[in-house]
Amino acid sequence: MKLTEVRIHRLHMPLRFRFETSFGVETHRRLDIVEVRAGERVGYGECVAMEAPVYNEETLDGARAVLVQHLLPRLAGAELREPEDVARLLAPVHGNRMAKSALECAVWDLMAQERGLPLARLLGGTKESVEVGVSLGIEPDVDTLLSQVERHVGQGYRRIKLKVKPGWDEVPLGEVRAAFPDIALTVDANTAYRADDLGRLATWDRFRLDYIEQPFPEDELLLHAELARRMETAVCLDESVHGAADARLVAHLGAARVINVKVGRVGGLAETLRLCEVAREHGIALWCGGMLETGVGRAVNVAVASRPEFTMPGDTAGSERYWDLDLIEPPVVVTDGRIPVPAASGLGYKVVPERLRRYAVEPPWVGHLAD
Ligand SMILES: [Mg+2]
Repeated sequence: MKLTEVRIHRLHMPLRFRFETSFGVETHRRLDIVEVRAGERVGYGECVAMEAPVYNEETLDGARAVLVQHLLPRLAGAELREPEDVARLLAPVHGNRMAKSALECAVWDLMAQERGLPLARLLGGTKESVEVGVSLGIEPDVDTLLSQVERHVGQGYRRIKLKVKPGWDEVPLGEVRAAFPDIALTVDANTAYRADDLGRLATWDRFRLDYIEQPFPEDELLLHAELARRMETAVCLDESVHGAADARLVAHLGAARVINVKVGRVGGLAETLRLCEVAREHGIALWCGGMLETGVGRAVNVAVASRPEFTMPGDTAGSERYWDLDLIEPPVVVTDGRIPVPAASGLGYKVVPERLRRYAVEPPWVGHLAD
């Protein structure tokens, strides 16, 4: 298969709610959808890089430049036989994982369609539905948070994750645990704590969390290992893990027993599969995180989470939680804390071109790769 044309759509999509984490407030997402064509067939991938480099070092505009100037030229004219060929051809480009992932996912979608397989099956997924939890942002006060928890527990989500930061941690956490003694509860600090906080974090076993996610900066693996030694509660890493090699190092150091997998953060689906292998070898539990994706990225998350290594509920909530109108049909729907893995080929959901136009902020970038 040779790619004939690529389009990159720049969209602006208002979120249905204000989402606050330790690194800021989000009210909308600006994002790129990469559309690849091979003859009549069309595949889609989502670039999850944020506008500002606050989650990782990539930015949306930077990722676009890398895609156009450095990644697409490496696929132009190439004969793609296996989906893994994309990662191999892009490997000489260092870093820029979210840019690579956007393009790679679009080609995997195409190849899954060509083989008449749902993406989940092409990836080795075995489940018919995936278990999901929800990630709740920092709220203005504890009462608002408690009502959010109540609402999402009522909707059947299998795990509640609270975003925390210094100044918004033990009080809301204590109140939520007291009001909901039996729910599966976790926290995510998005790197907000420092070495000085280690002693205090080590006392959080009392909240009976399934894990504590990424308390320290991404390059502080030794600090995470120290916390892991001092707690019963599992440490989970997100920002620190850029691929299979990092996961192996994490296992070697005992820095985490759980990893939040984000396909964009690790550079795509081929690397996600390598990470799965490491997780299996070392008994690391995986779950699939989220970057406030549209249905395009959300569909990939459902497919990835259908693999057997994903033993904990992920962050892939339903489309209606985020968007008035998602880019896909049907929307992703959560029923009793589960999302069915679609049986249709490719992403398994249909991307609606009219909605790409509706949310577009400018005409798409178009590149011809072959005739
Ligand atoms: Mg996280």
